[in-house]
Amino acid sequence: MFKVPREDFTLETYRDYAYLEVPLPIPGREATISCPHSYPLFYEALGLKEGDRLLEVGTGSGYGAALAREVVGLSGKVVTVEIDEETYKFARGNIEKLGYKDILLILADGSLGYSLEGPHDKICVTAACPRIPDPLIRQLRLGGKLIAPLGHPNVPQDLILLTKRQNGSLESKVVEEVLYVPLRGEYGWPIN
Ligand code: SAH
Repeated sequence: MFKVPREDFTLETYRDYAYLEVPLPIPGREATISCPHSYPLFYEALGLKEGDRLLEVGTGSGYGAALAREVVGLSGKVVTVEIDEETYKFARGNIEKLGYKDILLILADGSLGYSLEGPHDKICVTAACPRIPDPLIRQLRLGGKLIAPLGHPNVPQDLILLTKRQNGSLESKVVEEVLYVPLRGEYGWPIN
């Protein structure tokens, strides 16, 4: 976290608040950069490590993707999917400005995962899901882990850690309560 300048992932107006323990608005519909502690909360639970192939659903500012890239290193891979075009452009600008060349940014419905780069060792969803999207479970490697907020928008959600065992069965545990914007798209909440 010392390596990635969080202020470069916020809007100019909020630069002074970049290190406060709060989410901040970013361009796009309902998009935010999550509060700082949420990233280690997700990545430590996932056991994210050097060499991992991570799929992030909900790029937002691109900050989480940059942090993850610092963890997985050159031998790993970060693929991140954003559904909102305005947010995607903001993230792409931030990532390019900081010189990260090997983070794959995709403008698409991430509730469908990203099978072209699968199977993924780790998956993190940074938006609240009505249920864990089936395509994400399918695209998770045996022995892999997925983390996602599960529950309704605007009320505390359960942060779920799923482990896909070697025999394909799933183990699930609640890490803690969190508050995330709703997942949109095919496996998301119906939002008009
Ligand atoms: N990880 C981000 C914070 C994400 S905020 C960061 O580090 O800044 C949640 C994001 O999920 C929003 O940008 C929202 O547009 C996006 N989102 C919601 N539904 C999505 C979907 N189906 N596919 C991809 N992105 C989605």
